[in-house]
Amino acid sequence: AAKDLGKNRFMVFETRMHEQLLSRLDQENRLREAVHRGELRLHLQPVVALPEGEVSGAEALVRWQDPQRGLQQPGSFIPLAEETGMIIEIDRWILMEACRTIRQWQEESPATAPAWVSVNLSAVHLDLPDLTDHVAYALATTGLSPHCLVLELTETVMMRDLAVTSARLEELRELGVKIAIDDFGTGYSSLGYLRDIPVDVLKIDRSFITGLVGNGRQQELVSAIMQLGHTLGLRVVAEGVEDAEQLALITVMGCRYAQGYHLGRPQPAGELRAGLTVPVTAPR
Ligand code: C2E
Ligand code: MG
Ligand code: MG
Ligand code: MG
Repeated sequence: AAKDLGKNRFMVFETRMHEQLLSRLDQENRLREAVHRGELRLHLQPVVALPEGEVSGAEALVRWQDPQRGLQQPGSFIPLAEETGMIIEIDRWILMEACRTIRQWQEESPATAPAWVSVNLSAVHLDLPDLTDHVAYALATTGLSPHCLVLELTETVMMRDLAVTSARLEELRELGVKIAIDDFGTGYSSLGYLRDIPVDVLKIDRSFITGLVGNGRQQELVSAIMQLGHTLGLRVVAEGVEDAEQLALITVMGCRYAQGYHLGRPQPAGELRAGLTVPVTAPR
């Protein structure tokens, strides 16, 4: 009887694994179709210049309008997309859509359109020899000025071959595009690569802004990161600003750019546009 029980347990386990595998395959197939069926959506989150508090740029963030489950946030499908390589197609779609949207907006309302847009790129793009050609193609097709495009990479790119990474980033910068390090401070070897690889923008990770109020030690740390960035001539953006107190603190610290729910949520371009009536602050 004990033997049978063990066997049954194994079968339950096997069935569950089987179900998980099927559901993963199902999601993989549906995600693959999503791009072709036009189910991806571009959302834009404003990036505000301080101390003015006016919009300067915007970050492009992908969403998936899944017919079965509704609007999906990147956390629920980006990991699968990265495992399967589908992220390349997704990132390319967002890049094109972001360039097209901002360019059109700038043409129609030059005074109030964001001066720049930043697009997230998964680290795998750095292995693709045609990355620069593809970015150049997106700019040429949409007519967006290269100076209006920022490409965001996380610190995981620094765990790759440094020579290859630097060469690729330098190629991109020669186009006139800017490079940002996203989620700065959460990855590995945070400082060595600031010396070795060409970057223009540092985005301080949200985890440094959360809990900033009332934590003197963390304030000193964030203030020091900002000074370091400015000394190196970089544009520094504080991510994840969720309330007025955090905003006041980072403004006093000399922060020049901020992004977060307190300043504006990610939303479809049309909705963001409807709310933007004040002229943009040009990037410094
Ligand atoms: P990220 O690039 O660091 O983007 C910022 C994330 O923080 C966004 O989450 C944004 O909605 C969220 N956020 C902004 N302000 C606040 C705030 O005040 N509080 C909190 N709690 N969160 C805030 P989202 O859109 O869910 O994206 C998550 C991550 O998924 C992104 O982090 C990025 O790493 C990745 N991602 C998004 N779109 C793309 C894409 O098109 N391509 C690639 N490769 N990755 C993407
Ligand atoms: Mg980002
Ligand atoms: Mg980030
Ligand atoms: Mg992130």
